[in-house]
Amino acid sequence: MPERIPPGSSKPLARYLELELLLHNFFESTGYCRDNYGRTCNGCCNENVVEYPKNTSGCKELDAQRVSIYGPGDLTRGCPYSSDKGCILETHKSPKCIAYICSNFTRALNEKGIDYDWFETHTLLISILNEARFDWWSGSKIEPCCINDEEFSAIKRQLEESLRYRE
Ligand code: SF4
Ligand code: SF4
Repeated sequence: MPERIPPGSSKPLARYLELELLLHNFFESTGYCRDNYGRTCNGCCNENVVEYPKNTSGCKELDAQRVSIYGPGDLTRGCPYSSDKGCILETHKSPKCIAYICSNFTRALNEKGIDYDWFETHTLLISILNEARFDWWSGSKIEPCCINDEEFSAIKRQLEESLRYRE
């Protein structure tokens, strides 16, 4: 596993990578993609839905770290980081790639009492990464929004809480 938060990362990127870990661990813990499709969790069977590359303002540092850790990937594939077993990125995914899960997986979570909305999570991730508020539907930037560590911890706790099973 590569270093999750490389030293010298900016604060917004470090926070983003913390949320990525939280979501990654949660998706892994469900075993859904692996058990049903033999994929790494959130491994994106359906690359076309997620579409690569994703252009998000403020992503330059994330993109640069991704390339320095994983290289340019396999440029012959639709997404250079896809593989027959799913996504090879364990860290440093783009916001869409972290947040996206398909409708089958979403339904399976709903059945366990988790109301997961990948659009909402995507908006949260781009907001944290860019220190700005975004419109969840259009993805457009609304206004700058810097949060302190306490506010970030509260957002993280809220996300964690929303991912708890309620059977
Ligand atoms: S989220 Fe859905 S499409 Fe993506 S790997 Fe899992 S099962 Fe496949
Ligand atoms: S980076 Fe990974 S999750 Fe994103 S499109 Fe490529 S294979 Fe899918």
